[in-house]
Amino acid sequence: MNAEDVKKLAKDLGADLVGIASAKTLNAFPPDPLWPQTPEKILPTCKSVIVVVQHIPVAAFRAKSNIPVQYMDMLVLRRMDRVAYKLADTLEREGHPSFVTAAQETDWNMKNASYGYLSTRHLGIEAGLGTFGLEVNILTPEYGPRLYLTGILTELELEPDAPMTEQVCIGESCSRCLYSCPTDAVRHYGIDKRNCATEAQEFGFATATAFFMKYVFASREENKELIKSRDVFGFWQGLLRVVGSFGDCPRCLAVCPVGNDYHAYLANPQKVIPEKTPEKVDKAKGFRKARKDGDEISGLDDWNIRWVGPEGYKGIVARQMQEFKKAQKAKEEEAK
Ligand code: SF4
Ligand code: SF4
Repeated sequence: MNAEDVKKLAKDLGADLVGIASAKTLNAFPPDPLWPQTPEKILPTCKSVIVVVQHIPVAAFRAKSNIPVQYMDMLVLRRMDRVAYKLADTLEREGHPSFVTAAQETDWNMKNASYGYLSTRHLGIEAGLGTFGLEVNILTPEYGPRLYLTGILTELELEPDAPMTEQVCIGESCSRCLYSCPTDAVRHYGIDKRNCATEAQEFGFATATAFFMKYVFASREENKELIKSRDVFGFWQGLLRVVGSFGDCPRCLAVCPVGNDYHAYLANPQKVIPEKTPEKVDKAKGFRKARKDGDEISGLDDWNIRWVGPEGYKGIVARQMQEFKKAQKAKEEEAK
């Protein structure tokens, strides 16, 4: 099987996008060299990582509450796992040992927060599928950040895809993700993970441990109240449907104007960002100035620029929008 065969198989199984990264490159360029997330730490004989993307259908981002997105997320994750599993299984039956990365695993020895053995966002970028947004989600030209992705580690040597060098994110002049963030967690091509987690993992690991610490030291009467709290319902719901454990906050995904799915269905409902404040506007202005002045920005330093797009923003979203409008017009003419 060659790279083309593998990609065709992934698409036939239902993947929206697929790319291939070389294990050698991933080993040489870990996201943080101090705490390397590399395939060789998991499987020293790994030759390639196949990256599969499943997009989140956008209708739920038009809804008034976050709940429809959270539920769709779960369905998308299930579908993605099934596609990746079938791909790995087929490769192994063909004689190439392969398995799906445990994306939600964390190694507490590496960093003082959730930190997987591989970063799926970086896998996607190395596999040529997109580049970082200001909020360090991977942005694909097709679906912006509205997607999930996973990696299949294989011992089969495959022709890797070239990473994109053009920045997909519009950048500081857009800053819509920054404006929308309810916890002001968006940094300059970085993220305050702790702040983000308060919304994105409302009933995640940190909430669970905090709750049980409180429970252990509370009186019998206090425990009776605690057990009826919204937190317990959240944990139960998380066990059933993942909802609340992670990916709980859709705001920076909903407002990002990259992708034809945004142009088609989100441009109107997401035009106004209610969370936008004068302070956030000032923060974006500061980012713009810092980049223009060539200030030191850790998210854009010599190591990290690789994943942001070393050529900078060259108008990919505007080009995409023009093509999209042309296609829409042609469709309307055809329908007349
Ligand atoms: S909202 Fe704008 S600044 Fe944020 S990731 Fe998307 S394109 Fe980049
Ligand atoms: S997921 Fe929500 S809290 Fe986290 S960065 Fe995006 S908008 Fe902010």
